[in-house]
Amino acid sequence: MRNTINLLFLTCAVIVSCTRHQPADAIFFNGTIYTVDNQNPVVEAVAVKNGRIVSAGKLPMVKEMAGTSTQMIDLKGYTMTPGFIESHGHFLGMGMNNLELDLLSTTSYEEIIQMVKEAAHRARPGEWITGRGWHQSKWDSIPKPAFRGFPIHEKLSEVSPDNPVYLRHASGHAGLANARAMSIAGVNQLSVEKLQHEVNGGEIIKDEYGNPTGVFTENAEKLISDKIPLPDEEKNYKAFLSAVNSCHANGITSFVDAGVDARDIDLYRKAIANGDLKVRLYVMLSGDEADLLKEWYAKGPEIDTVNFMFTIRSIKLYADGALGSRGAWLLHEYSDRPGWYGNIVTPMDTILSISNEGLKNGFQVCTHAIGDRANREVLDNYEKAFAKHPEATDPRFRIEHAQHIDPDDLGRFAQLKVIAAMQAIHMSSDRPWAIDRLGDERIKEGAYMWQSLLNSGAVIVNGTDVPVEPIDPIACFYASVTRKTLKGVPEGGYESEERMTRDQALRSYTLDGAYGTFEENVKGSIKVGKLADFTVFSQDIMKVDESKLLDTEVMMTVLGGKEVFKNNNY
Ligand SMILES: [Zn+2]
Repeated sequence: MRNTINLLFLTCAVIVSCTRHQPADAIFFNGTIYTVDNQNPVVEAVAVKNGRIVSAGKLPMVKEMAGTSTQMIDLKGYTMTPGFIESHGHFLGMGMNNLELDLLSTTSYEEIIQMVKEAAHRARPGEWITGRGWHQSKWDSIPKPAFRGFPIHEKLSEVSPDNPVYLRHASGHAGLANARAMSIAGVNQLSVEKLQHEVNGGEIIKDEYGNPTGVFTENAEKLISDKIPLPDEEKNYKAFLSAVNSCHANGITSFVDAGVDARDIDLYRKAIANGDLKVRLYVMLSGDEADLLKEWYAKGPEIDTVNFMFTIRSIKLYADGALGSRGAWLLHEYSDRPGWYGNIVTPMDTILSISNEGLKNGFQVCTHAIGDRANREVLDNYEKAFAKHPEATDPRFRIEHAQHIDPDDLGRFAQLKVIAAMQAIHMSSDRPWAIDRLGDERIKEGAYMWQSLLNSGAVIVNGTDVPVEPIDPIACFYASVTRKTLKGVPEGGYESEERMTRDQALRSYTLDGAYGTFEENVKGSIKVGKLADFTVFSQDIMKVDESKLLDTEVMMTVLGGKEVFKNNNY
């Protein structure tokens, strides 16, 4: 008995002395805190120490961890969630986009011409003017002249006769060049047929007289983009820093970078050495770099199990193009282009062999597939590889976008445990015109099938594909739960039965996002022991009226217990 009492006394003393000598670094309180932890879904306060969560629950309990040095962070009634995970974006693309002409919000071709005109005045002689993010479906009217719905280069060439211009489409699968850029690339009426012949999977769009219109799709884009001098190291680094800031300002604490090469990896290593990597990066190796893959197969994945800041354990492939430029690979012809089925970007036997190598060498494979044919082919090849490598028990292969799936293939995601990396915001932006490409029946039965996939047991990870869309997770969350455009139409949403619930949408951006990178045990929910990554919103995104959801602001972003962003209105 005495021993028990002694032991009890000793234990108490240890606990008291622990709390006394090792107080929490910070305690977050006075807000609504959604944990995404089923055991404890809403808590009053969270304590953090050394970058980890050490207590989460009722305020009096969490306060036990307070000491004189503990920073008390008043959430002022705001709403806190686990740090948001962008599950598919292009990190340096986003940063570079911040440095280029940003055409994402342009609403007419005229506006773009004006921006290029001003840029041409500022540019050095011969300097390239680049921009990204235009989309003809976002314009108030079709430009004149236009061809197949796309603009023609003439006006662009007029305002910038001496500076080559290349403006990439929001989808990332097409671009518009001016005359100077085409002349540098040797594209003209005489050469166009020959060049078209050499392009594998892509199109130099020509008008009815055979003149190139300035629009290049898929692999044809390389004719122009290969001529643009690569940004130097300094510009790349600027882009990197700008990307980190964009993440913080948007509440993003983890980012999945969908396709990097050796140069990008060098840049990231430099940033780590400089202490500038302040977002958890999970990068996919670009699958079209054969030497890079070889190198990584030999050395195996690099998994950061100490700081969880930088991990390389996956490979990015492209099965097809995008729907906007009619590059998505379909089982049946396009509704608005008879006889056309889209583009195969990577041969299927390459996808199979990389899947096999991935399983053999411990790499996750993530394949871009938009059209129903592309999705089926990728599932088929994944299935073959899984059958050949039963020893790989938890490969978590992913299909990036998984936009349009034949009803026969829907259940295969759950069956094969293939993750659907979907970007809800794409539905919001694309659904109004996607119906032209696919027609009523295919849209209703197979496009953006979130609830059907979730019901079947598949995991969806959410994101924006930034810079295809702005990185804003609030717009994407809104799209996930409403299936409306950002203008709030249509009433009730498109195919509303496929909406996510708010719980599902939150999970897709947090815990399920972490599952998509094998990190669900260290992040994605607010739970003792996990990384202290949090996003603080101005209002309760789980309860606020749908019509007010888009007014939500990110108030604070916390990475590893440290504040990395605070809104001026906080
Ligand atoms: Zn992408």
